[in-house]
Amino acid sequence: MRMPFIAGNWKMNTTHVEAESLVAGMLGGLEEISGVEKVLCPPFVSLPVLNRIVRGSSVKLGAQNMYFEEKGAYTGEISPRMLAELCEFVILGHSERRWYFGETDEVVSKKVRSALEYGLKPILCVGERLEENDAGRTKEVVDRQLRSALKDIDPCPSLVIAYEPVWAIGTGKAAGGEQAAATIRFVRSSVAELWNRDIAQDLRILYGGSVTGNNIAEFIRQSEIDGALVGGASLKAEEFLSIVSQTAAIKGS
Ligand code: PEP
Repeated sequence: MRMPFIAGNWKMNTTHVEAESLVAGMLGGLEEISGVEKVLCPPFVSLPVLNRIVRGSSVKLGAQNMYFEEKGAYTGEISPRMLAELCEFVILGHSERRWYFGETDEVVSKKVRSALEYGLKPILCVGERLEENDAGRTKEVVDRQLRSALKDIDPCPSLVIAYEPVWAIGTGKAAGGEQAAATIRFVRSSVAELWNRDIAQDLRILYGGSVTGNNIAEFIRQSEIDGALVGGASLKAEEFLSIVSQTAAIKGS
C-alpha cells in the first residue's frame, strides 16, 4: 500500500511574507486531512519561516532545487547540507531546470546522489517535450532520464518520481488520466529493471502538469498514479486543499 503524496511546487512565487500568509491559509485545512503525505515546496528564502510554522504538523517541506556540492565557491547555489536542516524533500530535474537552466541528465544524477547522501528525499522529475511526444518518443526519453538519474544509486524506497510531460506544465493542457497512467506504469517497469520489482512496487510515482481541483480525480482514480506534483494550483489555498482532500477521499475508498 503506497501512501498517496501531494506536493505543491510554488516555483518563483511569493515573498516570505506572502508565503507565511499562504501557508497560514491552508495549514488548518491540511491538518484535517489524513492518509495523504502533504509537502509544500516554497522558494528557498521561505523555507526557514515555513519550517517554523509547520513544525509539529503533518505538513512537510521540500526545496525546488539544490546544487550537488556540500559547500564552496559556487556563488548563488544552495547545498544539500543547508537544506537538510530545513526540509525533508527536494525536487530535482524539474523540466524548468532542465530547459531554462541547462541541467543535463548527468547533473541531475549528481544531484540525486548528493541529496540522498545528505538524507534528503528527492522528488525526481522526468518527462518528454511536445515534439518528443508527437514523435512517439515518450518512453525512450523517460527511460533515458531515469536510467541516467538512478545509475549507480542503490535501491532507495524514499525516492519519489514525478512524471511531468513538459507540454503539460503550466499550459492548462493536462495529459489524460489513462495516458499518464500508462507512462507511469512504464516508469515503474523501468525502475523494476534498474533496481528490483519490490522497490518499484513500493515507490510513489506522481503525475504533474496542469493539475487542478477540477481534474485531480481523473489522475488519482488511476491505481498506478500515487499523487501529484502541483504547480500553479498550489498557490491557491482553497484549490490545493481541494486537491489534497479529493486525493484522500479517492485513495482511501
Ligand atoms: C510543476 O511545476 O511541477 C507543475 C506541474 O506545474 P503546473 O501544475 O502549474 O503545470
